[in-house]
Amino acid sequence: MSIIKNVEVEIFNNNPLAQVIVTIETHDKEIGIGEAWWGIPNSIDPGSTSRPIASVISNLIAPHIKGKDNSTIEKHWIDILEYGYRYGDQGIFLMGLSGIDLALWDLLGKQMKKPVVDLLGGAKHDSLPAYASLPPLRDTNLVISEVQRAINSGFTAVKLHEIDPMYIDLLHNEFGESLGIMVDVNGHFTLHEAIDFGVKISNRNIIWYEEPVKPIRDHRAIKEVAIKTGISIAAGENEYTVDDFKRILESDSITYLQPEITKIGGLTIAKKISNLLETYDIFLCPHNFRPGPSLNASLHWAFSSIKSKWIEIPWVNGEFSGGYSLPLLSKGRVFLPRGNGLGN
Ligand SMILES: [Mg+2]
Repeated sequence: MSIIKNVEVEIFNNNPLAQVIVTIETHDKEIGIGEAWWGIPNSIDPGSTSRPIASVISNLIAPHIKGKDNSTIEKHWIDILEYGYRYGDQGIFLMGLSGIDLALWDLLGKQMKKPVVDLLGGAKHDSLPAYASLPPLRDTNLVISEVQRAINSGFTAVKLHEIDPMYIDLLHNEFGESLGIMVDVNGHFTLHEAIDFGVKISNRNIIWYEEPVKPIRDHRAIKEVAIKTGISIAAGENEYTVDDFKRILESDSITYLQPEITKIGGLTIAKKISNLLETYDIFLCPHNFRPGPSLNASLHWAFSSIKSKWIEIPWVNGEFSGGYSLPLLSKGRVFLPRGNGLGN
């Protein structure tokens, strides 16, 4: 369609939630904006953990697509992975590739004057249920006030990143049975601890228990947690390749699959994952914790899949560093961003 002239990477780091934003510009002055994974949280020097990912983009990947036709996205994806295979097919190289891939999809949608969901086969939903995802707070008053803020905004489900079952009891006592609760412990527990924690919260209105054990990708242990607690498990934000996703789907350990669009390599692989998912009785619930290009891309992807169930909305009190705002929400449901491309 057009020739890629320039690739810029910018780290927004004016609060702890840094964002890595990728802008691709063609010779015709068309622009595509994508986002790579943001890095490990760092409140002392926000953005410092984003720099290695930004460097992958500007030093390894950008030189590889400059001067090329922007429209052959899948060919670029394959060529970049082939070029960089010594860096591995998981981790930081794929995070960088994700930022480039999302910018290319945004650019193509804008050129074709279509929302990206149309390039993925069209929307299968008018809206999708959304949940407010709170960061780890470790403070009862803050948890209650943030959950109350979510309920006031129409949410009927929230996700906690707390590792003490006391917080789940607190929400149950404060807000009752009607509030759905997701609990994400980011692999904090050993298998024994994970089962113990799960049993303690199993009589509450738990929608899912996320990444319960370390090692985080120990699917056998995850399955044991599911069986011994009777709670549905969510995982997948630390899986990468189609083979990885096939393994976790085959492990019979989870109910909700959570690929992270800024880690896996963007929408080019995402559509392969959702095709794969159609043959399993497992739901798609994209992981996300930033508004803007990454959340918009997750929305276009989720709306294109019949397996989509819940959309994660980052629920943080204050401004996001990139200046992006949350998508349209009403009565606990989220709608696709308007506009062509990703709608950034
Ligand atoms: Mg998580």
